[in-house]
Amino acid sequence: MDEKYALIDSHAHLEEVEDLEAAIARARDSGVVAIITVGSDYESNHQALDIAQRHNSFVYPALGLHPWSLSFSTLDRNLQFIEDNAENIVGIGEIGLDYHKSVMKGSSKELQKEALASLLGLAKRLGKPAIIHSRYAWRDAFSLARDAEIKQAVFHWYTGPLNVLRDILGCGYFVSATIAAEYHEEHRRAIKEAPLERLLLETDSPVVYRQGLRAEPSHVLRSLQAVANLKGLEPGIIAARTTENAVALFGLKGC
Ligand SMILES: [Zn+2]
Repeated sequence: MDEKYALIDSHAHLEEVEDLEAAIARARDSGVVAIITVGSDYESNHQALDIAQRHNSFVYPALGLHPWSLSFSTLDRNLQFIEDNAENIVGIGEIGLDYHKSVMKGSSKELQKEALASLLGLAKRLGKPAIIHSRYAWRDAFSLARDAEIKQAVFHWYTGPLNVLRDILGCGYFVSATIAAEYHEEHRRAIKEAPLERLLLETDSPVVYRQGLRAEPSHVLRSLQAVANLKGLEPGIIAARTTENAVALFGLKGC
C-alpha cells in the first residue's frame, strides 16, 4: 500500500514494546494517528499513564486489570488506582475473562468473574468504554457486560462463536481485528460477519503472530489489509470507518 491512511491502533501494550520511541516514530510514519495503550496490572497501568503523558495527543491510556494478573487481595487497590486516574483515561481495559486452563490454574472462574463485574461496574459509573478480553469465555464476558448495562465496549481480538458475536453486535458493542485476521479461522469468520460500523483495528503489540512477527503499532496496516481482503473492500474505506469508530468510542479529539 503506497497511500497513507489515518489509522488508530486501538489495543497495544506499549510498556512491553522494545525500543518504544523508535516504534512510535515508525507508527507515525506509517500513518498511525493514535494508539490506545492498555494496562494489565498496577505496574503497567502506571507505565501506560507515563507513556501517554510523554506522547500527549498520540498515545491514549486505558487502565485495567487483565484476567492473567488477578488476586483477591489486590483487587481493591487496582480499582482505586483506576478510579483515581479516571480523568486522564479513555477506557477501562484490558479487563475480561480467560478460561484457558493455564490461566485458570492461577485465577479461578469465580475470581475472574468477580473482578470483571467490579471493573465493569466502575466503567459504567465512570462512563468509560470497556476493552474486553474474552478467550474461551465469550458468552460469560458478554453476559457480564450486558448485565452491568455497559453502553460502550470492544471485544478485542474476538475469536468466539457467531451466536455470541451477534449478541455483542446487537448491544452496539465493537469487535477489533488483529493481524491474525490474515490466517486465524475463527477470527476471520468473526471479522467477516461484523459490519464495518462495529469494527476497530488493533495490533495487541508486542504479541507474536504467525511466522514470528512481533507486533508493533505500525503493523496495524497489516490488520487493515487483512480486513480489506476479507471484506472485499478498498483499504481506504476500512481505514476511514474504523478510525471514525475508534475516535467516537474513546472520545478522542484531534484525530
Ligand atoms: Zn491485550
